[in-house]
Amino acid sequence: KEYGEISLKDIDHVAKNSFPLCMRHLFEKLREDHHLKHGGRMQLGLFLKGVGLKLDDALAFWKAEFSRKVGAERFDKEYAYGIRHNYGKEGKRTDYTPYSCQRIISSTPGVGDHHGCPYRHFSEENLRAALSKMGVGNRLVEDVMDKVRNRHYQLACTLTFEAVHGASCDAGINHPNQYYNDSKKILEQ
Ligand code: SF4
Repeated sequence: KEYGEISLKDIDHVAKNSFPLCMRHLFEKLREDHHLKHGGRMQLGLFLKGVGLKLDDALAFWKAEFSRKVGAERFDKEYAYGIRHNYGKEGKRTDYTPYSCQRIISSTPGVGDHHGCPYRHFSEENLRAALSKMGVGNRLVEDVMDKVRNRHYQLACTLTFEAVHGASCDAGINHPNQYYNDSKKILEQ
């Protein structure tokens, strides 16, 4: 089964239950700061496209947040283009695909950036806090940290997936959109 659509009224609920930590973090930061830098807009924007957020809804979603920070006019002038571009509606009209874990893990977020993979790019303290906020129990947090120390970031994410869903993920996590689809499969059973 394909989970081909997501509507704006469900998005907060779905983010909390079915987004991998990298996307939850971007989503929460966007809601908090009403802004994300370019790397974050790309990583989250393409992921949302991949989970089935339609272009019009994507524009409404980003505009609602960015307007609170930079105003609606500046959003229309400076940021709407990038969103349409991600959907293949501007420039070369390439239909851009969402980033894989490998690509996200090998990115290099700078100061003030929120993209990247939390298992790779968060401090130990921040990662522990984020995991417990997701409801991962203490003992399992230690298992996750163990994978992180060995640089097995995708395995760390897989363990997190299993902990929060109470179900196994035999294939392992290799793409944020796969995490999402596998989560929906379990939650909608
Ligand atoms: Fe996101 Fe992949 Fe990192 Fe999980 S392993 S947090 S899905 S980039």
